[in-house]
Amino acid sequence: MVDLTKIRADFPILSRKVNGHPLVYLDNAATTQKPKSVIETISNYYETLNANVHRGVHRLAEEATAKYEDSRKKVAKFIGASSPREIVFTRGTTEAINLVAYSWGEANLKAGDTILLTIMEHHSNLVPWQLLAQRKGLHLDFIPVTKAGYLKDPERMIRKFRPKLLAFVQVSNVLGTINPAQDLIRVAHEVGATVLVDGAQAVSHLPVRVKELDCDFYAFSGHKMLGPTGIGVLFSKTALLEEMPPFLGGGEMIKEVFLRESRYAEPPYKFEAGTPDIAGVVGLGAAVEYLSGLGMEVIRQLEEELVSYAEARLAKVKGLMIYGPRRPADRGGVIAFNVEGIHPHDLATVLDQDGIAIRSGNHCAMPLHERLGVVASARASFALYNTKEEIDLLVEGIERAKKVFKR
Ligand code: PMP
Repeated sequence: MVDLTKIRADFPILSRKVNGHPLVYLDNAATTQKPKSVIETISNYYETLNANVHRGVHRLAEEATAKYEDSRKKVAKFIGASSPREIVFTRGTTEAINLVAYSWGEANLKAGDTILLTIMEHHSNLVPWQLLAQRKGLHLDFIPVTKAGYLKDPERMIRKFRPKLLAFVQVSNVLGTINPAQDLIRVAHEVGATVLVDGAQAVSHLPVRVKELDCDFYAFSGHKMLGPTGIGVLFSKTALLEEMPPFLGGGEMIKEVFLRESRYAEPPYKFEAGTPDIAGVVGLGAAVEYLSGLGMEVIRQLEEELVSYAEARLAKVKGLMIYGPRRPADRGGVIAFNVEGIHPHDLATVLDQDGIAIRSGNHCAMPLHERLGVVASARASFALYNTKEEIDLLVEGIERAKKVFKR
């Protein structure tokens, strides 16, 4: 049995008040809160062993490097990679995807090639490909989304377009849809495509095993998985990373530098130019430890129960429309919705008066909102520390907003 009171006590921010009410934090898809262990690991790093990594031979430099590399091992194990060498630290999902677009994309795609995306992508898995397509004369095609919030005939679309690259989100940050990643990757490989998975909303909610998925690239952000902001990960297979040209040039990513050319370090270092966010990496290691301590299967079960409860309660609110799959097993920790006659920003403002934090807007998914026929939505998103009582407060808050706006 998981003791939710004990879990909540690990997150100091959950005991603060907002507008005189206990904080009800339901904006976890934007960023999650941090447990004490992560906060303390970061401050302890600065208090006791701050030094640059991979450079000095002095004691602090060696200890900092060991901690940094230890986090790489933890992350590799957490996502089921074959080796820590497959883990490249980036600033986040966005930078990880841009790295692939600039490095792999520039080297491997040519005019006329197709990149297949989906309509439900976050802007960060859309705009880098638009930029690449404009630079190289590529086609962008899209797997549509059904009214119920699922990808429409994705396998048929992959076979039809025969893309060079398939890039898709594992869990939608708006619809919550859990896409059938393993099947899509298998079909994409059958037609010779390379596959990138945006795992930003998946990695702290589902057990992720990249080796079993067999994806070529997997991108995610530390701050959405209880870790610090400014740190993220690109997973890729060693053979691919070895072939890829560097993305950023500078110190640490080189073996030898001459005046007119250089020889590069082995991956992952080839892709980590300059001084990295060392404290961020160390903090991410602590976040992974926290999640692993509870177990991702347990977290998924907790969240599925919570989301299923939230959906059932929200579905009973008159005038409230939920987007995305209605089967809890098909949904991650996100529920986007609209309340008839109330703009999501107004709803979020009224809820904030009750100390309830939700997101409103297009959630960096404008094309998806266009597909849904709305300009914006409200979004409640959950993490392992949320409770059913908080969902009751959300529903009460929505009812109050309906009264305020006379709906
Ligand atoms: N993809 C998805 C599905 C996301 O939800 C987000 C963050 N909202 C991102 C990518 C981008 O992540 P980051 O801003 O941390 O780079």
